[in-house]
Amino acid sequence: MSEETEPKGLFRGIPRSSSIEADFSVEFSGADPEGLRIQVPSDPMNTLARLLPLALATATAFAAGVGYDNTPQIPGQKWKVHDKNRPNPPIVEPGESFSHQAPAPADAVVLFDGKDLSKWKGGKDGKAPWKVENGYFEVVKGTGDIQTQEKFKDFQLHFEWSAPNPPKGDSQGRGNSGLFLHGLYEVQVLDVYNNKTYADGQAGGLYGMWPPLQNAMKKPGQWNTYDVIFEGPLFDAEGKVTRKASVTVIHNGVVLHHKQEFNGPSGHQNTPKYFKYDGTGPIRLQDHGDPVRFRNIWIRPLGEYDQPEK
Ligand code: MG
Repeated sequence: MSEETEPKGLFRGIPRSSSIEADFSVEFSGADPEGLRIQVPSDPMNTLARLLPLALATATAFAAGVGYDNTPQIPGQKWKVHDKNRPNPPIVEPGESFSHQAPAPADAVVLFDGKDLSKWKGGKDGKAPWKVENGYFEVVKGTGDIQTQEKFKDFQLHFEWSAPNPPKGDSQGRGNSGLFLHGLYEVQVLDVYNNKTYADGQAGGLYGMWPPLQNAMKKPGQWNTYDVIFEGPLFDAEGKVTRKASVTVIHNGVVLHHKQEFNGPSGHQNTPKYFKYDGTGPIRLQDHGDPVRFRNIWIRPLGEYDQPEK
């Protein structure tokens, strides 16, 4: 359920404004201790013979994308988990603000109001050990995930997050956290601004299952909003799923998923199956080692039609 074990060496970021040249130099300097020297070669043909295979290998890697080809098939889809050939979503420049700093409705449970993590738990002593300052909180590397004390069934969630600036690392190693609904179903949190990764690991992706419809990422250091509507799974007496968990996600005003179903809990390089539980769970946030920040988080149970006025 975590990407902690991910072999980061398999991935390389390819900037949004990338050029083969930039990619090539990284590849070459790694392959040749002498580095890439842009000089008139003393022996042009010999140099060409050395460079050509590298250039071809790099072009192939570039075309094939970042990800895996040895993972299981995603149930009901033609793609494998973290499929390196799965297309990345189109980039959409979001508006300057959408639900940014949206005040909580009166019936919402405010999970973070800028002051403290009293609604959360985690760490060795049960007190969520992440850093709180200036109206946000931030992942403290190595302290582990944190989760809400309260559990929820079906809900509307407002959630704001910001990737580290300046950015560091690439692919899944850049600004990675995760929003786990019921503590199990991950909506990915990742800096995908000028950062290439596999499609189902994109920001707002249902990790290992569904890429987002768009890449609506704000620049590192700017605030992103996720507005999420989630319905948890239902089970019969034997533990069989009678309704899969599903989610609608709006990222900075751009719809990433509309009532899309989870195949089961989220996993890394695998496809976990549903298991029976009471249909409620916490909001869990992932410590993936990157100092991602969060603010203004609130949640409302969805409620039911035809309820009497209070
Ligand atoms: Mg994550």
